[in-house]
Amino acid sequence: MLDIQKIRADFPILKREVNGKPLIYFDNAATSQTPQVVIDAIVDYYSTYNANIHRGVHTLSQEATDAYEVARKKVQEHFNAKNDYEIILTAGTTHAVNIVATGFTSFLSEDDEIIVSAMEHHSNIVPWQMLCERTGAQLKVIPMTEQGVLKMDVYESLLSDKTKLVFVNHVSNALGTVNPVEFIIEKAHKVGAAVLIDGAQATPHIKPDVQALDVDFYVASAHKLCGPTGVGLLYGKEEWLNKLPPYQGGGDMIDQVTFEKTTYAGLPFKFEAGTPNICGGIAFGVALDYMNSIGFDAIANYEKELLDYATERLKEIEGLRIYGEADEKTAVISFNVGNIHPYDIGTIVDKLGVAVRTGHHCAQPIMDFYKIPGTVRASFAFYNTKEEIDVLVEAVKRAVMMLS
Ligand SMILES: *Cc1c(COP(=O)(O)O)cnc(C)c1O
Repeated sequence: MLDIQKIRADFPILKREVNGKPLIYFDNAATSQTPQVVIDAIVDYYSTYNANIHRGVHTLSQEATDAYEVARKKVQEHFNAKNDYEIILTAGTTHAVNIVATGFTSFLSEDDEIIVSAMEHHSNIVPWQMLCERTGAQLKVIPMTEQGVLKMDVYESLLSDKTKLVFVNHVSNALGTVNPVEFIIEKAHKVGAAVLIDGAQATPHIKPDVQALDVDFYVASAHKLCGPTGVGLLYGKEEWLNKLPPYQGGGDMIDQVTFEKTTYAGLPFKFEAGTPNICGGIAFGVALDYMNSIGFDAIANYEKELLDYATERLKEIEGLRIYGEADEKTAVISFNVGNIHPYDIGTIVDKLGVAVRTGHHCAQPIMDFYKIPGTVRASFAFYNTKEEIDVLVEAVKRAVMMLS
C-alpha cells in the first residue's frame, strides 16, 4: 500500500493552484512532475560542485565526474544492463533513436526492410523514414486492431531475411497499450534482425530488464520518470554499440586526433561527444532511486486501480468513447465525447484546474486510423488520487453540457 498523501508531499508543484483551483495534473504521459529530492540534487550540483567532467584534475571536476558515473551505474542497475559502458547517456529518447537510425545507414541497402508499428510516436517514425530515404530500404508497418492492439500474425508475416531492424514502442503514449515486446524480440531474432524498443512510455510504470528481454537497443527519457528534461538513455548490447559508428564528432568522444586521422574513444564515450547534461544525468540517477524507493510493483498496482476507476467513471458520460482498450495497458485514457473537439474539452477542464493533453499526441497515424482530429488524454501517475479523477469526470461533464 502506498501512502499517497506522504508521496504527494514530495512534489512541491502539487501544492499550486491553477485558475484558482488546486492543480490536478493528468498529463504525466507528456512529462512527469519532479520530487523535492531531485530538485535538491539539481540545486546541490550547481551550488557546490558544478564543473566539466572527464577532463579536469581539480577537485570539483573529479566530484562531478564521479557523480555522473555513479548515475550511469544507477541507470545500468535499474535496467539490468550487463555493463555500465552499454549505457549511453543521451539528451532523451529522440536523441537515442537518432543515434541508432543514423548509425544503421551504413548497414542497409535497397533490399533491406525495417519494421515499425502503427502506434509509434513521431519521434520514432521520422528517423526511420529518413534512414529509408538515405539507403533505399523499405519501411513496413505492423497494423493494429480497433482496440489498439498490434496484429502479431501480420507482424510474423512481415518478417523475412530482408528484415534488418524492428522498432516498436514498449507502451503507446497515445493509447496506453503494452505491446508484447518479448514475442516481438524473439521473432525478430529468428530472422537475424536487431530490435530497438522505445521505453519512453513504459519506464514510468514498468521496470524493464534488458538482459531478460534480450533486446538489442532500449531507449527512454528521464523526464517521464520524475527526472529532468534533456536527459535519457540509449542502452545497446556491447557488440552492437561497437559496430555502430559515432553519431556526432567532438570533444570527449575521441582517443587521438591528428589532421590525418582520428581514432575514437571506447564505450560509452564514443557516443557522448561534447559536454553532456551533467546535472541532468546526476538528477536522473536520483530520480531512479526515488522511483525504486516507492517500488514499481506498488506503482503498477496503484495505477491500475486509478485506471480502472477512471475508466468506469468516464463511461458514465453519454457519448464518450475511449481509444485504446487493450487488456494490458498503462494508466492512460484517450477519449472523445460525441463530435466535440478535444481542444474545447481541454480548455474548459483547464479552467477547473485539470491538466489533460489534447491533440494528436505526436501520433498522427493513430488519429488517421480512427478518423479523428485528436483525443483528450488523461494520463495518471502514482501521485494522483481517485478524488482527482472525480473532479476530472465532473469537469468533463460540465464541458460537455456547455459544448453540446
Ligand atoms: C515522449 C515519448 C517520446 C519522445 O521522448 P523525448 O523525451 O521527447 O525525446 C518517444 N516515444 C514515446 C512513446 C514517448 O512517449
